[in-house]
Amino acid sequence: MTAILNQLDKLPDWLAAQGQPKFRAGQILKWLFETRIESFEAMSDLPKGLREALARDFSFWSSDVIAHERSSDGTEKLLLRLNGGGEIECVLLRDGIRRTICVSSQVGCAMGCVFCASGLNGVERSLTSGEIIEQMLRLSRLLPDDERLSHIVMMGMGDPLANLPGVLGALELANSPKGLGISARRITISTVGIPQAIRKLADLDCRYHLAISLHAPNDELRTKLVPVNAKIGMAAILEASEYFFEKTGRRLTFEYVLLAGLNDQPEHAQELADVLAGRGALLNVIPYNPVEGLPYRTPNSDAINRFRRILEEQGIVIKFRQRKGDDINAACGQLRRQVASAVPAVVPLNLPKT
Ligand code: SAH
Repeated sequence: MTAILNQLDKLPDWLAAQGQPKFRAGQILKWLFETRIESFEAMSDLPKGLREALARDFSFWSSDVIAHERSSDGTEKLLLRLNGGGEIECVLLRDGIRRTICVSSQVGCAMGCVFCASGLNGVERSLTSGEIIEQMLRLSRLLPDDERLSHIVMMGMGDPLANLPGVLGALELANSPKGLGISARRITISTVGIPQAIRKLADLDCRYHLAISLHAPNDELRTKLVPVNAKIGMAAILEASEYFFEKTGRRLTFEYVLLAGLNDQPEHAQELADVLAGRGALLNVIPYNPVEGLPYRTPNSDAINRFRRILEEQGIVIKFRQRKGDDINAACGQLRRQVASAVPAVVPLNLPKT
């Protein structure tokens, strides 16, 4: 049976076929996006017959929660098993009054970044808009009634620009007042950098915030860390980001994961400062979150501070991302990997209340 979130565009026709007035679609969306309910039965302002018809023709969700972990810092992570197979992760982060969710766009990832857990087995498929929305709605249901999601980052598994149709469809609803009503400025798309997709985003005049994972100041090193760079090259990415900035007037962020001994040396900082000079972009530096079985390490604080000082002296606006959820494997793809290696299938832990 197909999940309602995958059929939202067909809902008006389906309602018409049931002999129902148009406004029922709005009522159903409200239940999905603004409440914590998880069954059609609970949609108490719909006629009983309609609730039964919904339950007959659609499933409420298109995945099962197979793990739910809570970190001591308030971070929560869900591992979802999709209908038809495949597992994805999504995370809720609590930071002051912010309630940020980190959402996946694909099962696995094709980009192959050597330090990242998500792409270790390649990509299985892209997610539908409904499956992306489902992560948002499942995470919103972890919040108490008086709290709302405030920010979305497309920084889970997969590369969102390799699944533009799925991601844009989902973000439209996340942004819409009929959906989650989260302003576009509070929605970040993070990508390895696919130039034609960046230009497309700019042409669509999307107001979303764009973050590009650079991780190295030159092609030679970047291709070692982000193998897909061999086919793209930094020059094309930087040109496309320039185009995005000119077209939308929105400043971009470049992300840089610091890996001890590999891309954290003074010469890397200096070269990066040269690359970023005059671009008006922000630099977001992320200390590496170690992945079991991979040889990469987080630099010590001396190396991190030295890196930071060199860039700041050159006038680059630099921000350090706080690591969160370390104790629950919150970095991309880590939980899925841990569960996949656990034999037999994992027993559900702490399933969310329905
Ligand atoms: N495919 C998108 C989203 C990936 S997740 C992209 O490449 O941007 C968001 C960021 O986390 C990326 O910059 C990614 O390189 C980084 N990342 C992946 N694994 C990490 C880890 N173990 N520690 C720290 N950052 C990591």
